[in-house]
Amino acid sequence: MRQLMTMHSSAPNTVDSLPALAAPRPRLGKLCVAIQGVTAAEMMGRAETVLKDSKFLEFRLDACHKPAATLNALKEFLSEHRDVTAIGTCRRKPFGGMFDGALTAELDVLLKAAEAGCRIVDLEVESAEEAKPAQLDKFRAGLQAAGAALLVSFHDFSRTKGLAQAAERIEAFEPDFVKVVSTARTLSDNLEVLRLIEDRSLGAQVVGIAMGEEGLVSRVLGPRAGAAFTFASPDDGAETAPGQVTARTLRDLYRVDQLDQATRIFGVAGNPIAHSLSPLMHNTAFRRESVNAVMLPLKVRALDDLLTLVRQLPLGGVAVTMPLKQEVLPHLANMDPLTSRIGACNTLRTGADGKLYGFNTDVAGVVRPLEKRMRLRGSRIVVLGAGGAARAAVFGLVEQGAEVFIVNRTHETAVALAKQAKAKALKLEQLAKNQFDALINTTPCGMAGSKQALPMKESELNAGLVFDMVYNPLETPLLKLAKERGLAVVSGIEMFVQQGARQFEIWTGKPAPEAEMLKVVELALRRRG
Ligand code: NAP
Repeated sequence: MRQLMTMHSSAPNTVDSLPALAAPRPRLGKLCVAIQGVTAAEMMGRAETVLKDSKFLEFRLDACHKPAATLNALKEFLSEHRDVTAIGTCRRKPFGGMFDGALTAELDVLLKAAEAGCRIVDLEVESAEEAKPAQLDKFRAGLQAAGAALLVSFHDFSRTKGLAQAAERIEAFEPDFVKVVSTARTLSDNLEVLRLIEDRSLGAQVVGIAMGEEGLVSRVLGPRAGAAFTFASPDDGAETAPGQVTARTLRDLYRVDQLDQATRIFGVAGNPIAHSLSPLMHNTAFRRESVNAVMLPLKVRALDDLLTLVRQLPLGGVAVTMPLKQEVLPHLANMDPLTSRIGACNTLRTGADGKLYGFNTDVAGVVRPLEKRMRLRGSRIVVLGAGGAARAAVFGLVEQGAEVFIVNRTHETAVALAKQAKAKALKLEQLAKNQFDALINTTPCGMAGSKQALPMKESELNAGLVFDMVYNPLETPLLKLAKERGLAVVSGIEMFVQQGARQFEIWTGKPAPEAEMLKVVELALRRRG
């Protein structure tokens, strides 16, 4: 609003009445990389390493043992790198920072940071309120003389509440930038932050972030909602705030600087979810197929919270993991008959009517790789395990006309599933006495960190093809054994990609770039070792 009023002011300006020129508005990127270090050398060293990727840096001077002693190095750095836009921050301890000096010392460091070349300085609202009017006027005059803009910030390290009041406290100082940072405890907290940005960004340069893993949505979508920029860490392990993600992740994985109002938002929901490969796989596919969409990991503690986000953000669709696959069923407007029979839905799509529609793409994840290699109708397939993943396999394969046998550690569970799905339950000891066209492992045996390598004895492997749903490691002990025996194999990664490819088709109506999806997921798993 202040900007518009300035532009449309009808009062003619005479030379005498012209206001003093404000500091030229810095040209900013969408991503500001926050740098900290305990010594000047460490801080400038870190800044040097991020320069090839980012020219917009925040220097957390409060992290230095001697902030004042770092200013010379900062000045030198900024005069050597004139294309860098820098924010200087020296937050005091009571307000979440690391600086244990008094207000006067903080103002002094910030002013010197401006004189050293920082184009913006960050003053927490508590300090602005504590300062005497004359002290603040002098500080602001100093900033103006140095050509630096003032950002006033509010931080809540425990929750997301009262953001509008926080913004009003800041706006009372008429700063160049309003920064409101809270802590997300739920996914819905992101909505509060995004609303604040939307409501206020027409009249001011606003930065809004919810910290914490649940707050990732606000970090990625803040600029799309109108935020001046968002913060990132230079590297994993160098975060200056909880939940901060690396600049590379924000730029390359979530394409923060390309998101706009037309971008469709998708999510993968679960808990834990941080290590899910779905965002990498789907974001790669969106980019490859020029689909204006982004997928975010959503840490869900309660289904209601997820549903609020889905409706109000809104989300175009969600990939759901256990135990949400069953919990979500009563909230669907409709689902396909197979999903209904399986009793688990791993894919949500929001219809044009705003209602949720459910699909089970795990079925395609099992069926598609198998039907490429064998005729399913009339084939004999044994499924080891009777949990969630087994359900999709058993129902899907029975529907394709296969004769399906279930072997499970807890035999009664196998019997119950067999009855529901029109399959047959076998006891473990019957495994060796039968020959199968394919064996599918749906137990976690063989997974990295699992105590048991194989889901059955080596001598019980009586099948022409072996399909292991476990995909970490890429080559499980079961697949290794099968290869040594010269058997055909299907890896869990193929299932993961196929179920994801079907999701992509449901969400976009386009064929999925399967080869690209497989390549990127394989590479990520190899890197994880
Ligand atoms: P779940 O519902 O917990 O079921 C696990 C099944 O494995 C149960 O039948 C359980 O038997 C059995 N089991 C567990 N530990 C065992 C052991 N030490 N020995 C023998 N049987 C054991 O899990 P889920 O959701 O079905 O997932 C199972 C596996 O599939 C996981 O490793 C998951 O990562 C993988 N998965 C992969 C994909 C993919 O895209 N590739 C998709 C979904 C799942 P009881 O009934 O006796 O407990």
